Parts: sequence; C-alpha cells; structure tokens
Amino acid sequence: MYQATPRTGTGLASITLGGRSMPLMDQARIYACGITPYDVTHLGHAATFVWVDTLTRVLRTLGVEPVLCRNVTDVDDVLVRAAKREGLRYDDFAAFGEFRFEGEMAALNVRAPDYEPRAHRYVRPVIRLAAALVESGAAYVRDGSVYFRGGPAVEAAGTGRDEALRLAAQFGDRPGDPAKDAPLDAAVWQAGEPGYPAWDSPWGPGRPGWHAECAAMALSVFGPAVDIHAGGADLKFPHHTLHAAMAEALTGVRPCARAWLHVGTVTIGGAKMAKSAGNLVLAEDLLAVQPAAVIRLMILARPWASSWDYTPALLTEAANRLEALHRASGLPHTRPSAVAEIRRLLGTDLDVPAALDVATDAGGDAARLLTSTLGLT
Ligand code: ZN
Repeated sequence: MYQATPRTGTGLASITLGGRSMPLMDQARIYACGITPYDVTHLGHAATFVWVDTLTRVLRTLGVEPVLCRNVTDVDDVLVRAAKREGLRYDDFAAFGEFRFEGEMAALNVRAPDYEPRAHRYVRPVIRLAAALVESGAAYVRDGSVYFRGGPAVEAAGTGRDEALRLAAQFGDRPGDPAKDAPLDAAVWQAGEPGYPAWDSPWGPGRPGWHAECAAMALSVFGPAVDIHAGGADLKFPHHTLHAAMAEALTGVRPCARAWLHVGTVTIGGAKMAKSAGNLVLAEDLLAVQPAAVIRLMILARPWASSWDYTPALLTEAANRLEALHRASGLPHTRPSAVAEIRRLLGTDLDVPAALDVATDAGGDAARLLTSTLGLT
C-alpha cells in the first residue's frame, strides 16, 4: 500500500508552481484537459502531456501521490465536422482517434491517467450544471440553448475585449450568435442543429458546450476543487476561464484550482503549428527517428511555461544531454547533497534544466533519480 513519505525532514511536502508554493498532504488532484480526438498528435500536444506526466512523477518523488484525471472531449463540433468529412459516425471517429493517441502516449512513456472521462458519458451532469446555473441567475435560456453570463469572468481574466472576442470566435464560442445577451456569454447547453448529435434536455434536444463538458467532468470526478489544473497555454482563454467560472458559480468554492500548469506553445519558424499551415511536426514521425527519452528531454529541458521553436538541432542537443546523463548515472556518487538538491529543484516550478546540470555534474544516485523521475529510462 502506498505511504506518503515527507522527504524534507520538516514533515512538509510542497511544490511550487508559477512561483506559488503549494503545501500538499498525501495526494494531489490533477485535472488535465485532454484531447479532442479528431486529429493527429503533434509535438505541441506531446509537450503538454509529457509535462503533465512529469508533474505526476515529480510529485511521487516528493512523496505525494498524484491522482490524474485526463478527459477526452469526444463531443465537439469540430470533431463532428471532421467525422462527417471522413464519412464516419462522430463516436466511431473519436474512438479511432483516441486509440491512436493512447498508443502515442504509451510510446512517449506517458503513463495512463487514473481517470479518463469521456464527454459523451457526462451529458446528464452538464444538464444539471446548466439547470443549476439558470436557477442561480448565472445563466439564461434562449431558443433551446443555455448561455452562461461570461462578462464578469472575462473581465476578471484581464483579457482585453477585442482579444477576448477574437479568441472566443477562434475556439467556437460564436460571439456573433444573436440569441445571446452578450457576445462573450458561452453555451453551457447548445440547442440541437441538423448534423450534430443531440440529447434530450429540459430545453429540448441539444448538446453540451465545451467549457461545460470539462467543468462537469472535473466536478464529477474530483468535486468542487483540484490542486492543479493543466493544459496547453492556448486553453487559458476562453476555455479555462469559463470552465472555472461555471464550476465556481455552481459550487461557490473559489478557486476551483489551486494552481494552473499552462504548458508553453511549440512553434515552427515562429508560427503556431496548424494543419492548415502545413507545418505540423507529428509525434509519430519523431518517434520513428528518436527514442522517447530523447523527445521527452527535448521537451523538458526548458521552463514549462515558455513557448519555444522546434528545430531538428534541438533533438540532437537532447540526445547529447541524455547520453551525458546516462553516463553520469554509471559513475560513483560524488556529492551527498545532490539528491536533495534535485528534489528541491524539481519541486521548485519543475526546474528540469537546473536539475539536469546538478545530476550530470554529481552523477551516481543523483543522475539515476533524475533519469527515473523524468521518465528517461
Ligand atoms: Zn478542458
């Protein structure tokens, strides 16, 4: 049976994320926004999930048991349209995508989550969330849809109005929808439309909104709050802002996440990776030419919040660093303080670059601890 072992000698177990120290007890609840399984896994997705996996491994090394929930957004308008183009049912299409994703995650040495809720199984919780938000006045019903009043949350997030409108449109929140009281209100429940899956609800047939799906899954699995909410930096707004606002409006528990792990974006030649731009670097292509440990180290050898530009030279650099770390693992241990130093650095905003320097320099136990904690074996 698992036993939490405080390692600091003071009894304190804690991790710093985003500069904020977070004391922990025996478990840490982590909700990671997972994939919408309609597309290939590119390096940007891989980076997010390798960092989430590393966070769980670091927590374990610090004597705290992570409980990870990584959802699958298998009810999604973009996914439905992609399935239609392929001539497939949306749920069959999603199942294929999910299967491929799981294979790639396993190949990248990313451990399976403890909970993997799929949105299509959480329609009833979304209906209950919508009903409660209507009841409290945080949302309203129009033409079979339920809209959450997004204004206060958007204002609190500090995203300028123009930028908020641009992102809302980009992520499918339909700011131009005339049924809404205000452009930045977001659908908790979307009225049925031809060509999209629909479930019965008190407001007629329809489907859940994206932010509400994640809020319902996180609330169902963990209750009102989690320790860490993780996802790609591009999910910060509107997705995480509105997920948090809906959950907090339902429960009254604020904040619904003690800390956020928004993993930096990966670019190519300064541009965001996108299928339409034809600049995707696929996880499976990298795995065909390099071991998972090299890809993981390339992703991890930087601050997690930083955006970075991929070049093949970074893979070579990571391969060299990995070789040096493995060589150091075979050396006698030279610095008794190095193991504690590595624990401290990893617990301080997951400072992998500094921990790598210490481990490669000190060798022995320190290098072996870092190798296993980062999943580089
Ligand atoms: Zn989410």
